Amino acid sequence: MAFFRSLVKSGALSMLACYGWLRVRLSKKPTLLILTYHRILPADAPERAVEQPGMVTSPQSLENHIRVARKLGAEPVHLSDWLDRNRQGKPLPKLAVAFTFDDGWQDNYQYAYPTLKAQNAPATIFLVTQMIDTGNTFWPEQVLSLLTTQTIPENDSSFDWLRPHLPSGPTPGANRPLSLMEADEVIARLKSLEDAAILEALEQVYTSHPDIAPTETSRSILSGSELAEMAQNGLVMYGAHTRHHYRLNRLKDEKSLKEEIVDCLKDLKSLGDATIPVFCYPNGDITGTGEDLVSDTYKAACTTKTGWNVAGCNPYDLHRFNLHDGNSHSTRTLLATIGRGLL
Ligand SMILES: [Zn+2]
Repeated sequence: MAFFRSLVKSGALSMLACYGWLRVRLSKKPTLLILTYHRILPADAPERAVEQPGMVTSPQSLENHIRVARKLGAEPVHLSDWLDRNRQGKPLPKLAVAFTFDDGWQDNYQYAYPTLKAQNAPATIFLVTQMIDTGNTFWPEQVLSLLTTQTIPENDSSFDWLRPHLPSGPTPGANRPLSLMEADEVIARLKSLEDAAILEALEQVYTSHPDIAPTETSRSILSGSELAEMAQNGLVMYGAHTRHHYRLNRLKDEKSLKEEIVDCLKDLKSLGDATIPVFCYPNGDITGTGEDLVSDTYKAACTTKTGWNVAGCNPYDLHRFNLHDGNSHSTRTLLATIGRGLL
């Protein structure tokens, strides 16, 4: 029975892959595929043990994606170039691909940049500007690290905010650290809280328990010098992903929205010439006021909606394909993910 199920699954995957291949090959209008990545980490990188599986792609997969895109006839382009030509009504490649990376992870410099350089594939990294050159990391990684390495003590009020989100059952994080998958589910549940509130709660945990506070032994976010080096030959450009990665639909007032959207562009411009006025919504979360501020401030915006973009599309509603090892570790799974996104 298990064999039959895996045969059906494999057949469905192949059909989706064929569908993806055909749709891309037969696209009539000039089309742009935007591929989204987060972290690029080798299979044996220790960071994988404390990261959400849906965030990670291996350097080998990235290299394969670039090769497959070229084999499909897609021309790797700078996202900003395609958008400029689209806006000006200039000719566009029949099929183009733009590689984008969200959040500004240090591993983008360590593992993605050498691949991009070797393959001569331009890329855009969407930066969280107030995280650059800090030893900080995002709250999901902090929570994952906490839950997968520590037990959560009962009767300790500094963890009260976390308790309702822990798995129910006989071992709700009190008897043993959680598995990566269990902790990943806690992250999903914690998204009902405000980002700033979670960060504040984590600070209180570290104040009460300095022994488990994150250390700066391994910096996870890009530094200014790494950004400058990647921008040197024009291969990598930088877009905006807010100042603190706060989800826009969870901010209290317009002042905070302005800080995250408008001031992020000011931060970005201070980084130099390799920046583009393109915004990328954290978590894809949008509000009406936020959208208005984005369209007043930026020339385009990437969403988390899945799909491709054709000539004449709305530049503030760019669709992408979110890739990670779980959905694109082989050519067949990559094409199936694209096919599924185009159904
Ligand atoms: Zn992000």
